[in-house]
Amino acid sequence: MVDQWTDTEQTQLYFSAFRLSANGMAFFSEEGLFLRVNPAFGKQIGYPEEALNDMPWEPFIHPDDRKPIRRIMKDLANGTPVFQPFEGRLIRRDGTPVRCSVTAPVAPWSNGLPAPLFVQILESDAQSRFATPAPERETTREPVGIGSDSLYRTLVEQCTDVVSMHDLSGRILHISPSCRVLLGYEPEDLIGTSAFDLLHPEDLVKIPGAISAMETAPELPLISYRIRTKNGGYVWFETSGRITGDEHDLENEQTVICTSRDISLRKQTEQQLKKTNELLQKISSIDALTGLANRRFFDERFAKEWRHAMRFSTPLSVILLDIDYFKRYNDTYGHHDGDACLKYAAEAMRRAAKRPGDMIARYGGEEFVIVLPVTDGPGALHVAERMRSEVEQLRIPHRGSAVSSFVTASLGVATMIPVRDVSPRELIIHADKALYRAKQEGRNRAVAYSDE
Ligand code: GH3
Ligand code: MG
Ligand code: MG
Repeated sequence: MVDQWTDTEQTQLYFSAFRLSANGMAFFSEEGLFLRVNPAFGKQIGYPEEALNDMPWEPFIHPDDRKPIRRIMKDLANGTPVFQPFEGRLIRRDGTPVRCSVTAPVAPWSNGLPAPLFVQILESDAQSRFATPAPERETTREPVGIGSDSLYRTLVEQCTDVVSMHDLSGRILHISPSCRVLLGYEPEDLIGTSAFDLLHPEDLVKIPGAISAMETAPELPLISYRIRTKNGGYVWFETSGRITGDEHDLENEQTVICTSRDISLRKQTEQQLKKTNELLQKISSIDALTGLANRRFFDERFAKEWRHAMRFSTPLSVILLDIDYFKRYNDTYGHHDGDACLKYAAEAMRRAAKRPGDMIARYGGEEFVIVLPVTDGPGALHVAERMRSEVEQLRIPHRGSAVSSFVTASLGVATMIPVRDVSPRELIIHADKALYRAKQEGRNRAVAYSDE
């Protein structure tokens, strides 16, 4: 396995893992400088990676944590072993703290140089699910390679990400010991098996797309999926990867190097939020975009108003309002501006229907419905005309419109005194017919229903 590889191969693997990892990692030298940081480290604390290399690290550490870290360095220099990782705080560019762990290399350091400290940015996702830290010591007690290889090996063995190397069919050639902590498997359980064997069946569909994306770019797009743990459960993982080597080099097979992290906590929060939102939307009576009543609320209220008007034999009016050439508006200005336009139109309608009993609802898409209890035909037409005028007066430019240089609306008005044998749907159908006529007659107008 790992041991049959050359030093160069291993160094390459560890170096790629360091660069690719989504986990922020850095090495601090004894002279007080950043020796090497990875891109994720820079990103997580808010500086470009180049700005940090060879910079003093002290200013980036919380003042209360500087002394303990200096003490660790001193102990190391004196040959005192440091076993416990120290948990401290880094200071981000915006001044906020972020937790980090500072580890002294467990492996002996070669070539007489003082050993650097390994610093990892901690996130709650990276917490161990399988509390088996003991064997980790076992592996790291073995002497590791010489030179820069030992730097990266320290990293892979102490990093909470899972680093893995695959052949192009997905077979695992190497996997870092962190698979024990995150998934419960020993590296030996996994080496030689296919990475896809452990995937949740529903997530297998994400694989072909990710693989074909690598044909055009060396980077595997970031994918998230569920992976089976040793005890049979599933955890959410997020993996980034990079293809190495040259496809024309027949001597050396190409490999894929991946770093994966546990994102279960994030997924859980996301799913909870989604569920809450769906639930809220379901029980809500408000249209999220315009703040008007939604279709569900309209259906309920309209049925009530119908029964009420029938009991008291009062006229009930309905207006349907439809924005003119709205498809072209979206095509010209984009969907985002289209949505904004609908919000303004909703405001205009609110200004025009001011009686406490009036209800304006988003009927669907760019169509609105207004219910006017105890309002006769002429009264409803008057409100409709006021709405038309309010929309026009918004003076929202509309290059695609054939009737005006601004956004306009067409309206259909219908009135009934409800009686038992007529369905409330009829009133809506009448309003819709009137709206159709308003469109036919040239748009930007309000038309009352008549049955000729
Ligand atoms: P007209 O009514 O004048 O005959 O023309 P129109 O282009 O408005 O016709 P139609 O009613 O067929 O098109 C409605 C378009 O409204 C379709 C869609 O592009 C757009 N639309 C529907 N709902 C929304 C929405 O919620 N947001 C945005 N931005 N556009 C929407
Ligand atoms: Mg429409
Ligand atoms: Mg329209």
